[in-house]
Amino acid sequence: MILSMEDIKALCTKTSFERGVDYFQMGNVTDLEQFGNKITATVEGTRDYTVTIRTDKKTITATCTCPYNWGGYCKHIVATLIALSVNSPKDTLRLTGSYSFLLLISRWENHTIEILSAI
Ligand SMILES: [Zn+2]
Repeated sequence: MILSMEDIKALCTKTSFERGVDYFQMGNVTDLEQFGNKITATVEGTRDYTVTIRTDKKTITATCTCPYNWGGYCKHIVATLIALSVNSPKDTLRLTGSYSFLLLISRWENHTIEILSAI
């Protein structure tokens, strides 16, 4: 399975995506581990939450221990998916590679530009 930033965006709200990018950039995703088709990560924030992602050839299902319940995946899951997209523990997700890395960098730049123009 190949996940692009657009794929991740489609799984969550705009706010969750932006917060997830922030969390990833701040290095809040820790303990990223893969056991077969199950991936777990600890995401630090106001509290530490555990994200669990299960994959098969066609689907990704993700859960988080936080109370988020406002549509789509929470920022912790988004941050974990982004971390996977640049640093897949193994090649199950086939998310590594310069293309996705460049895509992420360009997203960061867009994000920075948005923030600067908002100020
Ligand atoms: Zn969460």
